[in-house]
Amino acid sequence: MTLTVRASDIKQYCFCRRTIYFKYVLPIPSLVSYKMTRGKKTQQTLQQKESRRTLTRYGLNEGTREWNVWLSSDALNLTGIMDLLIVGEDGTRYPVEVKETTRAFTPGHKYQLVCYALLLEDQYHCHVRSGFLYSPPRHLLHQKITPNMRQYTLQLCDRVREVMSDERMPPGVRNPGKCRNCEYLRYCRDR
Ligand code: SF4
Repeated sequence: MTLTVRASDIKQYCFCRRTIYFKYVLPIPSLVSYKMTRGKKTQQTLQQKESRRTLTRYGLNEGTREWNVWLSSDALNLTGIMDLLIVGEDGTRYPVEVKETTRAFTPGHKYQLVCYALLLEDQYHCHVRSGFLYSPPRHLLHQKITPNMRQYTLQLCDRVREVMSDERMPPGVRNPGKCRNCEYLRYCRDR
């Protein structure tokens, strides 16, 4: 049986593959960090503000927004809850991943977005050419979804499944600075 991966697992794997081991193999309940709680509040505020705005910042004159969209694909063995779906007036669908970050978006953010594009395509039988990474209030990145990115994202899904099905703890990150904000730090004995 092929294991089901969540889109958010891809971001976590890109951050540190050991987090997947803690989450699924042991499994250890993750701590709800201050950053996570603040992120949820930011999204609630954002939803209220966004509903009053036009879609011009996304390059659209008209369209609709749908928040927290649940997506699932048996064919891809992939699921996820997408922060925001924008549908343009011509029916084009754009996945939007909202992140509270003052830094540049990471590869993990990007490949999580690609997961949503793949899920949308499977669920709605459409073609998703691009999406957006959004860090409120101003940082908005229009991200193309290329064939190479799709292929690499599917490879990442397989790597996540390998960690899920393996009993061995994978190596942690090389840069210990990344561990400071990790929800699994207290279980990581070599840190
Ligand atoms: S504490 Fe560091 S090595 Fe351990 S899971 Fe977190 S990021 Fe990875």
